[in-house]
Amino acid sequence: MDYVNGPGRNHLFVPGPVNIPDQVIRAMNRNNEDYRSPAIPAMTKTLLEDVKKIFKTTSGTPFLFPTTGTGAWESALTNTLSPGDRIVSFLIGQFSLLWIDQQQRLNFNVDVVESDWGQGANLEVLASKLAADTNHTIKAICIVHNETATGVTNNLATVRKILDHYNHPALFLVDGVSSICALDFRMDEWGVDVALTGSQKALSLPTGMGIVCASPKALEASKTAKSVRVFFDWKDYLKFYKLGTYWPYTPSIQLLYGLRAALDLIFEEGLENVIARHSRLAQATRLAVEAWGLKNCTQKEEWFSDTVTAVVVPPYIESSEIVRRAWKRYNLSLGLGLNKVAGKVFRIGHLGNLNEVTIFFSSLN
Ligand code: PLP
Repeated sequence: MDYVNGPGRNHLFVPGPVNIPDQVIRAMNRNNEDYRSPAIPAMTKTLLEDVKKIFKTTSGTPFLFPTTGTGAWESALTNTLSPGDRIVSFLIGQFSLLWIDQQQRLNFNVDVVESDWGQGANLEVLASKLAADTNHTIKAICIVHNETATGVTNNLATVRKILDHYNHPALFLVDGVSSICALDFRMDEWGVDVALTGSQKALSLPTGMGIVCASPKALEASKTAKSVRVFFDWKDYLKFYKLGTYWPYTPSIQLLYGLRAALDLIFEEGLENVIARHSRLAQATRLAVEAWGLKNCTQKEEWFSDTVTAVVVPPYIESSEIVRRAWKRYNLSLGLGLNKVAGKVFRIGHLGNLNEVTIFFSSLN
C-alpha cells in the first residue's frame, strides 16, 4: 500500500511543507470559535503587528489570506497592476515559471528575462531595460527571492540599487515563499513594495495561509489598479481593519492560533538567530553533498540558498529513483527535480523547524 509510510519516523526534508513544532500542533488542536467574539479580533491585531517583524517592515500593511503561495501571488499582482501593464519578470526555475504563467494569464505584458536553471536572475539585463525605459513603461519588477526548484537565492539589495540608480518608479514585487523567516529579508530597507510568503514554509505551519505585505506605495497603486479581484481584494480587508473586526470572511481559527504560536517561537529564538541557524544548517548540507562527491545545481556560491539545496546526480542515475528509494527504505522525504531539472536533481529542504541533530541524522541515511 503506497499510502502507508515505512517504519520509523518520517524525515521530512522537502522544501515545504515542513515539520510543524509540537507547540504549534498543540496550539492548533482546538475547537472552532466565533471569529466575531472579542478574542479573535484581539489576537488578530497582535498577529498583524507581529507578522510585520518577519518582513522587517514598520510601514507595510499585512494581509492574512486563507490561501497558498499561489493565491498570495495573485493578490500581489491583481491589487497593484492593470491588464496590459508591462512587467519585467525573471525566469530561473519552476516557481518563477509558474508565477510568470500566472502573470501572462492575468493579461499583463510580461517581459521575461530568462537564465539557465541553476543561475540567479540576470540583473545586467534588468539594468539595461531600466536604462532604456525613459518613459517608465515598466510598471513592476517581479522576482522570486529564493527559487525553490534550483536552490538559488537572488540578491534583492542589488535589484533595489539598480532601480534607484535609474530613478525608476516601477513597483518591486517579491515572492518570499521559501525565504521569508529563514533568509535575511528586509522589506523596508530594500524598498520592496509587495512581499509574500506561505504558511507551510519557514513559518512551519500547515499549508493554508498566504501572507502578503504591501508598502504604502503598493497600497496607493491598489487604488487605481484595474485588474479584477474579489477574494483577494485588499480593499475589503482594509475596511474590516478600520472596523476593528479584521475579517471580511471566515478565517481558519486553528491556523490563527498556530500562527500566534509559530511567531512566539520565532521571537523566543530571535529572528536573527533563526536566520543564522538556517545558514549553519545549509552550510552543513552543502558540506555533506560535497563529501558524497555530488554537485550543487546552483552554479555560483553567491546564489547558494540557505533553505534548499538541489543536488545534481550522475547522468547514469535517475534522481526520482533516489527520492523513491529514500522514501520506501528510510521513510525519508526528499524533493523531486522539477520540469527542466526533473530526473537530474533531487532537493534537500533545510528550512523551518530543524536543528543540527535533525540534519545530522538525515545525512547519515
Ligand atoms: N513560490 C515559491 C518560491 C515556492 O517554492 C512555491 C511552492 O513551493 C510557491 C511559490 C507556490 O506556493 P504554493 O504551493 O503554496 O501555492
